[in-house]
Amino acid sequence: MEEELKKMAVTDALTGLYNRGYLNECLDNEYRRGIRYGTPLCLIILDVDHFKSVNDTYGHPAGDKVLIDMASELKHHSRDIDIVARYGGEEFVLILPQTDSKSGLILAERLRAAVEALEIPIHDELNLNITISIGLVAIPETETDSADRALYQAKHSGRNRVILSTE
Ligand code: GH3
Ligand code: MG
Ligand code: MG
Repeated sequence: MEEELKKMAVTDALTGLYNRGYLNECLDNEYRRGIRYGTPLCLIILDVDHFKSVNDTYGHPAGDKVLIDMASELKHHSRDIDIVARYGGEEFVLILPQTDSKSGLILAERLRAAVEALEIPIHDELNLNITISIGLVAIPETETDSADRALYQAKHSGRNRVILSTE
């Protein structure tokens, strides 16, 4: 019972990924660990492109199904030590410990391509396809909020792409 409650407190109910509160806690810990041992870590923030139109066209339950399937795709392509979280709405964040910008970019590009290729079954006659935009930053090379600016750049340079922050 106590274990169950603890798990619920750190879990996003829709997707089963970690929630934002737990993500913030981990980011703090991993950041400190990285500084202390001189190991890099990557922070990836990704956002579904034109997600509002999925809800508007196919309904909110279809949007929920997209988020659930996306979440399991993200888990599938990440390592056990990576922290995969739903940041809110249709935004997800991954913390990749012991990962430099080069390896982080490879994973981000793999995630982008995997989501683009994903067929999301809504009902017998409908599969949906979506794309994501990704901002990525290697820490402590740059600051954490740079990933957010990189995501913004990814959106404004045409979506469905990965941008590495070099600020
Ligand atoms: P962009 O390509 O610029 O990211 O556009 P967008 O439409 O994805 O972004 P916008 O922020 O306009 O829309 C996000 C939508 O996500 C609006 C909100 O109703 C929907 N949303 C947030 N949380 C959930 C959820 O849990 N389930 C569903 N189905 N929709 C959600
Ligand atoms: Mg968004
Ligand atoms: Mg979006």
